[in-house]
Amino acid sequence: MQTEPTDRVRAMLGKIAELFEKDVYPLEPKFLGKSFRAMLPELARIRGRVKELGLWAPHLPVEQGGLGLRLSEFAHVSEALGRSPIGHYLFNCQAPDVGNMELLLHHGTDAQKAEFLAPLARGDIRSCFSMTEPDAAGSNPTTLATRAVKDGGDYVVTGRKWFTSSADGAAFAIVMAVTNPDADSPHMRASQIIVPTSTPGFRIVRNISVMGEPGDDYASHAEVDYDACRVPQTNLLGHEGAGFLLAQERLGPGRIHHCMRWVGICERAMDLMCRRAATRELSPGKPLGLKQTVQTWIAESRAEIHASRLMVIHAADKIDREGVHAAREEVSLIKFFVADVLQRVLDRAIQTHGALGLTDDTPLAYWYRHERAARIYDGPDEVHKSVVAKRILRGYGIEVKA
Ligand SMILES: Cc1cc2nc3c(=O)[nH]c(=O)nc-3n(C[C@H](O)[C@H](O)[C@H](O)COP(=O)(O)OP(=O)(O)OC[C@H]3O[C@@H](n4cnc5c(N)ncnc54)[C@H](O)[C@@H]3O)c2cc1C
Repeated sequence: MQTEPTDRVRAMLGKIAELFEKDVYPLEPKFLGKSFRAMLPELARIRGRVKELGLWAPHLPVEQGGLGLRLSEFAHVSEALGRSPIGHYLFNCQAPDVGNMELLLHHGTDAQKAEFLAPLARGDIRSCFSMTEPDAAGSNPTTLATRAVKDGGDYVVTGRKWFTSSADGAAFAIVMAVTNPDADSPHMRASQIIVPTSTPGFRIVRNISVMGEPGDDYASHAEVDYDACRVPQTNLLGHEGAGFLLAQERLGPGRIHHCMRWVGICERAMDLMCRRAATRELSPGKPLGLKQTVQTWIAESRAEIHASRLMVIHAADKIDREGVHAAREEVSLIKFFVADVLQRVLDRAIQTHGALGLTDDTPLAYWYRHERAARIYDGPDEVHKSVVAKRILRGYGIEVKA
């Protein structure tokens, strides 16, 4: 397993670091705590620069306008982009679009690729993924209530979703809906269907305030009503009843993307913490870094970030070599482990900054608000720990039921 970036990735990382210093970090103070929509013109300018530099959509194949990186290569890029809250958006590899692009790439028909993937890959439109419902446990999506019923050549989609990230301003949603309620396996009852947001019956009820932030545009989480949304049956992704299988395939690489983004956040937080520890003097000539408590935070953070990076690269490498289903345990391990490291590193960095850490003068408070969710979305910690423990116990002859 190659743990260090390949030569081509190393060259990219140099260009990314340069761009961040020159264009991205200076924009952060304007972005933090502000409306995302108000920032779009400035973000569009930097997106143009990313295209000029030949760094656009690093996760996509060359034929789709990307760079054709393997997942274990993209992981290093995702870490570098994670150093700024706007990094992934600027390179068109932000969630949820990145997962939707991968779904369309691997399971879309030629017509779906032309209509939905191509403009998404160019960055002309955005998209969202609509699975979680207010009245069903998101941790167990076999309980979904949203239905898609065949009528003539169409599906009619009816249901209520929430936490559909980035629905505000998206051109289409990929909706998980039950199409085969009588299938024997509860995991074969739902399908993924593309619903353009211009479809009559699609309505954003509200952008949900999360940790005090109302959110707009890409930085939003919507409650969405699907009131008999009629779309052609050709908008089905993959085959009927394959919704969970596709979701699993989407979430595997998606968790690599998230975890390496979190490693990038940790590295930036670590850098800010060390700078502050070296320059903030408690008394003349006595910087904060002389305190053993701060040294312990620095050393423990370094160890935890290093372990996280290696674990994620290992999981990405396994997906590259053996496919997403073979790496189920590794993916669950990193999901709860790195999310937890992220909380601790951010907390230590904020504590080192004192009151400054709570302001929007650094990105720490933004991340502290936004990334508490890391322990919940894409499967809460407890679900992933359960997946890992059940597999281990099976080796000891115990079959643990849900
Ligand atoms: C910021 C954010 C963005 C999101 N974006 C999207 C999106 O774009 N699209 C989308 O469809 N969804 C999205 N979600 C929803 C997310 O996937 C769900 O919140 C998640 O799956 C958990 O479901 P739930 O909130 O219904 O919690 P519940 O299922 O109600 O679970 C509540 C709690 O119960 C505990 N629990 C659950 N299962 C177990 C278990 N087996 N063992 C022990 N304890 C358990 C956990 O502590 C869990 O936090 C997002 C969520 C957040 C916070």
